Amino acid sequence: MRVLIVGAGIGGLTTALSLHEAGVEALVVDSAVRLRPLGVGINLLPHAVRELTELGLGDELAGIGIPTAEMVHFDRYGGRIWAEPRGRELGYKWPQYSIHRGELQMTLLDAVLARLGKDAVRTGTVFEGFEQDGTQVRARLLDRASGTAGTATADVLIGADGLHSAVRAQLHPGETAPRWNGIRMWRGVTEGEPFLNGRALAVAGSNAASKMVVYPISMRAERRGRALLNWVAEVKLAGDRLNDTADWNRTGRLEDVLPYFADWTFDWLDIPAMLAATTEILEYPMVDRDPLDRWTSGRVTLLGDAAHPMYPIGSNGGSQAVLDARVLAHELARAADPADGLLGYEHERREAVNRIVLACRDMPADRILQTVSERAPRGFDAIEDVLEPAELNTIAGAYRQTSFSDVETLNTRPSYTPSG
Ligand SMILES: Cc1cc2nc3c(=O)[nH]c(=O)nc-3n(C[C@H](O)[C@H](O)[C@H](O)COP(=O)(O)OP(=O)(O)OC[C@H]3O[C@@H](n4cnc5c(N)ncnc54)[C@H](O)[C@@H]3O)c2cc1C
Repeated sequence: MRVLIVGAGIGGLTTALSLHEAGVEALVVDSAVRLRPLGVGINLLPHAVRELTELGLGDELAGIGIPTAEMVHFDRYGGRIWAEPRGRELGYKWPQYSIHRGELQMTLLDAVLARLGKDAVRTGTVFEGFEQDGTQVRARLLDRASGTAGTATADVLIGADGLHSAVRAQLHPGETAPRWNGIRMWRGVTEGEPFLNGRALAVAGSNAASKMVVYPISMRAERRGRALLNWVAEVKLAGDRLNDTADWNRTGRLEDVLPYFADWTFDWLDIPAMLAATTEILEYPMVDRDPLDRWTSGRVTLLGDAAHPMYPIGSNGGSQAVLDARVLAHELARAADPADGLLGYEHERREAVNRIVLACRDMPADRILQTVSERAPRGFDAIEDVLEPAELNTIAGAYRQTSFSDVETLNTRPSYTPSG
């Protein structure tokens, strides 16, 4: 069986590795002329780290990512509201990693080239459309360098081509633009001093107005006694309108984001100084798409953001793409007919991920953070003066809706790695 994967992001590359492990041949095409370590930080949840570890990449991840130990919420004055352990500290056998998206992508790319061969990834190749006849899929591809149109024939086609997926557009013609929830995000990475315990994911403020998420993402920096700080600033303005399409590479401006955080100088971190020290700022709207009732048509299916783009709440974008890849390879390898394998994959994944897309829209943790800002608009001395213990516990419950597999289930369920 030969599989054509459109998109060499986290999802597409993990799919290629998983198929290879299952004895299935794969070719990956990507429209980027050169794959470069783009993006800023993302989080890989323990269930995704388990999969990448079973693909033999555990040491590589440990060499670059930070094993996140706790998540801590603050109000916009830096007052501590709540903290909860993460990863191994929650009892999982695998850590949660905060990691640079581009470094993760390059790690996966190196593994694909080493294991599948240097011709397994074809860059500068734009997928333009497909036809299928029940036994094969023919993809129309454009070579960007020469401007030449060509075709590639495969037994299966996988659309791992992200938010603006061309494969999805053909499977679901007429779908409108991604949905924006009114929140603008500025993102950046800058080196600084470690804060809190050095391995915390900190959230300050709430989406009622302004929110800042900060976490360290580099083991190399940690070894030097420093921290590579990844930050995401989220701002919601009344009456704001979106004029551009969502583009992960759009440059943002310090003067646009700094005013919302100008006095957010806390004893645990100086936010305005961190923003001002950032050399490259990116801007992105918080968008997703409505859940689909179908990912698969015959021998074509969707995976990762192409199938289920979601708000970056609860560290799920990259993690769910990794899980898709593993389940897809597992189902394809054991099905007599590839179309049945794709349906098996969709059956296991689609409804489960669609529930996460909707849970992310609900932003459940934010409701209680907004309550804090309403009851204590000028900050607080002790959080117990503001929230009842039961109210505080709703934050933990909120993250369980979007982020966590049950610890025991993840630790004990069978592996997707083919046995023997
Ligand atoms: C450049 C970039 C930067 C990002 N930065 C961040 C970030 O900072 N923070 C964050 O949370 N998430 C970021 N993301 C999104 C994040 O990678 C995904 O949410 C998650 O990892 C799932 O990945 P995916 O493989 O499904 O899709 P993606 O990572 O989006 O990968 C899709 C791939 O498909 C390729 N592609 C698209 N259309 C075509 C086509 N027609 N033909 C051929 N190839 C095509 C793209 O070049 C891309 O490499 C970024 C994505 C990209 C592409």
